[in-house]
Amino acid sequence: VTTTITPLIAGNWKMNGLRGSLEELTTLAGMLTTGEAPRALVVICPPATILAAVARQGASAGILAGGQDCHAVASGAHTGDVSASMLADAGAQYVIVGHSERRANHGETDDQVRAKAEAAIGSGLKPIICVGETEAQRDGGTADSVVAAQLAASIPDAAELHQVIIAYEPIWAIGTGRTPSNDDIAQMHNSIRRQLVDRFGDKGASIHILYGGSLKPQNAREILQIENVNGGLVGGASLLAKDFYTIISAV
Ligand code: PGA
Repeated sequence: VTTTITPLIAGNWKMNGLRGSLEELTTLAGMLTTGEAPRALVVICPPATILAAVARQGASAGILAGGQDCHAVASGAHTGDVSASMLADAGAQYVIVGHSERRANHGETDDQVRAKAEAAIGSGLKPIICVGETEAQRDGGTADSVVAAQLAASIPDAAELHQVIIAYEPIWAIGTGRTPSNDDIAQMHNSIRRQLVDRFGDKGASIHILYGGSLKPQNAREILQIENVNGGLVGGASLLAKDFYTIISAV
């Protein structure tokens, strides 16, 4: 199945970035407005405390804002949590759900991830649903089945399916400087695409499948041109405007 999908490059700042990192955003905005028009949608997912500022400051350069997580309900007695509607109210258009760090550090299950994705869609946000295998699972030959099971259980049966974005992030590639071979990335992205089309038909052909895990200026060009890689989710290399801009320009 071939469908034209506008690539999307999302930066995941994780728990990095005080108000001062908005200077990087200003630098990035400058690069995006003076350079050649980017061929990708550009999203920054900063810590919640500066989300509104990122949404405001990025707007004129076309930079979109996203959250890094959301609660599955809209409001209530959930100390420390932020809901999807609150992220939307702060100017977000996207939200990462089910990042492996949340699955590991907060015990998030596929069911919870799906509920968060549903809440996101209900609030008008596009959920970036993360999946990916551990190193032991990759070595044991179960990467495909692990990712297939995560996808099956984490993606909502939503009518607004075109709003959903998938990010394949092999856990062993996150923050390690290691990436799968281009063949392994191609194989995984093709198998995710097949699964999406099997489940959702034509709609499944137009869902973004991002690659994440040590995406860098040095490897972006070759990884981003792989079939069914419709952009990237970038951690470390999204923190410096220069690096992130190089990745965006590699599309
Ligand atoms: P990394 O992180 O680019 O620093 O490997 C990616 C991610 O966790 O989304």
